[in-house]
Amino acid sequence: MEKYQQKTIKHEISCVGIGLHTGNKISMTLKPAEINTGIVFHRTDAAGRDAYIPARHEYVVDTRMCTCIGNKDGVKVATIEHLMAAIHAMGVNNLMIDIDGPETPVMDGSSAPFVFLLECAGIKAQGAPLKALRILKTVRYTSGDKELVLTPAEKGLNMHFSIDFPASVIGHQEADLDLTAANFKNMFSRARTFGFLQDIEMLRSIGLARGGSLDNAILVNDNTIMNKDGLRYSNEFVRHKMLDAVGDLYMCGYPMIADFSGSRSGHTDTNALLSAVFADESNYEIIDMATYYASLAEHKAVEEDEDLMQLECA
Ligand SMILES: [Zn+2]
Repeated sequence: MEKYQQKTIKHEISCVGIGLHTGNKISMTLKPAEINTGIVFHRTDAAGRDAYIPARHEYVVDTRMCTCIGNKDGVKVATIEHLMAAIHAMGVNNLMIDIDGPETPVMDGSSAPFVFLLECAGIKAQGAPLKALRILKTVRYTSGDKELVLTPAEKGLNMHFSIDFPASVIGHQEADLDLTAANFKNMFSRARTFGFLQDIEMLRSIGLARGGSLDNAILVNDNTIMNKDGLRYSNEFVRHKMLDAVGDLYMCGYPMIADFSGSRSGHTDTNALLSAVFADESNYEIIDMATYYASLAEHKAVEEDEDLMQLECA
């Protein structure tokens, strides 16, 4: 079944935009990649240095305000999470991403433009078995009031996220997502990144948010949303945090079979959670999706037969 095969895109496709933190113009091209490549960034401007950086948790070098990956030559790509979220949700496993600068284009601050790019490129099955990371034991990461938990599940990735902000325009928000391409696209992909006016000066002084504007972020000033068109969803803030988690969890290198819960957490915490998963091999297993789901169906059929037999005996 194609569903349990590795997938890449049918055709290469490009976009141009500015980096959220650098403010520089960046060109990016998504290209089909061979089976077992994974998601790999290729800095086309790396001149003489190792230009390739796999989008996996062990290559994460910075999680202040975004997820940034880098290789041993110091070649980096920042703000990959919104693109990774689209790639994860759309079920793409192998992709080469050519990029001519240190940060992905921010586009409108959401994942929707990247979902659109992948849909335009088309997605194709590659005939090779698809593997997944299945969580076997509860893995919890806490830091202050932030908490992330992965628990074993029978199928898919079911996600819950909650946030609490003092600003009353945000306050307490919760959201649930059963991760499929349709659920992500329809309910989460358009949620934009957000920032607080009082933080902008500080961020700019350390070289961040230089490309941020009302065209690519929600800006909150005390209890006011400064974007004249307001919000895209009434709880756009928690939806964006969920979107970030969809992107950051894909840094494990596989689709995941687990229940996920995130509370007040950010990129640093999700990355620490993945490190905790991989720190103990008994936390997870890498499974062949087709074999796993076939045995699950068989198991279910046997259970149903047993239930029927018990009914008949009773
Ligand atoms: Zn984000």
